[in-house]
Amino acid sequence: MDWLVHGFGTRHADVPALFDNLATLRQIHSATCVAAEGRSGVLGPGDALTENTPDAVVAIRTADCIPILLVDERRRAVAAVHAGWRGTAAGIVQRAVEAMRERFGTRPGDVHAAIGPGIGPCCYEVGPEVAAQFGLQGRTRLDLAGANRRQLIEAGVTPGRVYASNLCTLCRREDFHSFRRDGEAAGRQFSFAGVRQALQLN
Ligand SMILES: [Zn+2]
Repeated sequence: MDWLVHGFGTRHADVPALFDNLATLRQIHSATCVAAEGRSGVLGPGDALTENTPDAVVAIRTADCIPILLVDERRRAVAAVHAGWRGTAAGIVQRAVEAMRERFGTRPGDVHAAIGPGIGPCCYEVGPEVAAQFGLQGRTRLDLAGANRRQLIEAGVTPGRVYASNLCTLCRREDFHSFRRDGEAAGRQFSFAGVRQALQLN
């Protein structure tokens, strides 16, 4: 898709320096999906951004939470989603698919979904209260990426169009920030998507 700009950052990437028109959010672990509509800067509280304005890029920041990029190849629209356990339990990724339908006429069958680096089931042990949010019992390991994959398929996204990096931010110290590993000192990696300025065809 030559019209698409997208990527998952690492701890080494200075993503904000790459774009003049970058929108982010004050992330609050909610199911709130904000329409960026060409604006840049911090667009207020929320955990997902949608955009179809050419040359406007939306981004979310993570350090263990799961970043998800949604692309509607037919309508040429994108979303960037921040899904920690609270956002996942609240269905943020399904809310983003729904917001794309409302704003752009997106059909879930036209969506590609990329699930980026986040804390893996190898490292993400949670207590009984969090486990209960996902129908699990006791202290257990949680597969947040897998839970979001299931939600995407439930929302109508084709399983073959859900891609997962399966990279664990806690395991891969060289590449990624991890809140669980590094605590309050942890940085954040940026995940971003946008639509390029239309090419002149004549
Ligand atoms: Zn791990």
